[in-house]
Amino acid sequence: MKSKSPGINTICTHTGQLMDEQHKGSVSPLYMGTSYAYENVEIKRYPRYFNTPNQEGLSKKIAALEHCEAGLIFGSGMAAISHSLLAFLSKGDHVVLQKTIYGGSYNLVVEEFPKLGIAFDFTDGFSEKDFSEKIRENTKVIYIETPSNPLMQITDLEMIAELAKRHGLVTMIDNTFASPVNQNPADFGIDVILHSATKYMGGHSDICAGAVAASEENIAKIWEVSKNLGGSLSDYTVWLLERSLKTMGLRVKAQNSNAKRIARWLEKQELVKKVYYPGLKSHPDYALAKKQMRGYSGMLSFELVDSADPNEFMQSLKLIKQSMSLAGVETTVVSPAKTSHALLGPEERLRQGISDNLIRLSAGIENKADLLADLEQALAAVSKEQVQNYTV
Ligand SMILES: *Cc1c(COP(=O)(O)O)cnc(C)c1O
Repeated sequence: MKSKSPGINTICTHTGQLMDEQHKGSVSPLYMGTSYAYENVEIKRYPRYFNTPNQEGLSKKIAALEHCEAGLIFGSGMAAISHSLLAFLSKGDHVVLQKTIYGGSYNLVVEEFPKLGIAFDFTDGFSEKDFSEKIRENTKVIYIETPSNPLMQITDLEMIAELAKRHGLVTMIDNTFASPVNQNPADFGIDVILHSATKYMGGHSDICAGAVAASEENIAKIWEVSKNLGGSLSDYTVWLLERSLKTMGLRVKAQNSNAKRIARWLEKQELVKKVYYPGLKSHPDYALAKKQMRGYSGMLSFELVDSADPNEFMQSLKLIKQSMSLAGVETTVVSPAKTSHALLGPEERLRQGISDNLIRLSAGIENKADLLADLEQALAAVSKEQVQNYTV
């Protein structure tokens, strides 16, 4: 199946495109309609049923990108995640989740699952033992996210798929950080592939959307639940997302390349204590990342030395902006301790290896020299500040 499928940029550009038969235009026509003639019991077109022409077209592209049979598009990444989890979990079931997952996914589980009578456990680490020791008789799903946020730890996809098969469990992955350009978990036996399309798929920091790819059978299960919960995406945004995806292959390739260059450069800086990027040989999971990823993503994080002030550094950046979100064409930075991981509290953060001096960087597509120059002048500003503090 893999050898017959077109290359990623061809899928991005063409797969699932709607033909403009009337005017022979070169882009998909946009069908905003919410009302369609009744065809039969099976086919009732309606946006919340995920089967408008634009939704169906884009779903084909998502499926092809993830080497899966089928896909669905949602109103947000969390809609894709919540609806998919609820398709495989009912009252009395149990789910094993990787300890480091996206904050919103963590909140969904700890805040909503108790109300629904769904039990859960988070692993203590990333190894086979960490996952297998949490599996119970009523476990139905293993849920992972790799690379992890913000330390870019890697979970072994093949190990998870094999472990799940031995126990008859469904495997789900949040593949947002890698994007389908860098990683196709289905090739390693993972069942359900989830995305916050708000990130690399949208890529321009102007779309909120989600996506899931899986087998026809699993997508049918997710569809049954999703049509009741009602998390579909507006057709206009579906159309915009199709346009964004045309350049995803090119964007992510540039972002990978910029992130790698920045990571290597940061490693050599005196004010930088540690760099977390799976494409660096110094990363403990480098070999595993190399095995299961084609590129190492545009995300990285780094820790400034204790004496350097991370806020001073971020405020000194001129080209690079501070942003909570990620994966846009513009390079951004954020302090995980102050944002995504603020509610964990200092002790739990330290236990997870997230220091106050940690900065997460999302590489954009700007020229490398301009990005390095900006980082260099901001480090110099912090360094100057250090010297002044010392002499005062
Ligand atoms: C942003 C994000 C989500 C949630 O997606 P939304 O589109 O904000 O709902 C889920 N997982 C990861 C890894 C994310 O970065």
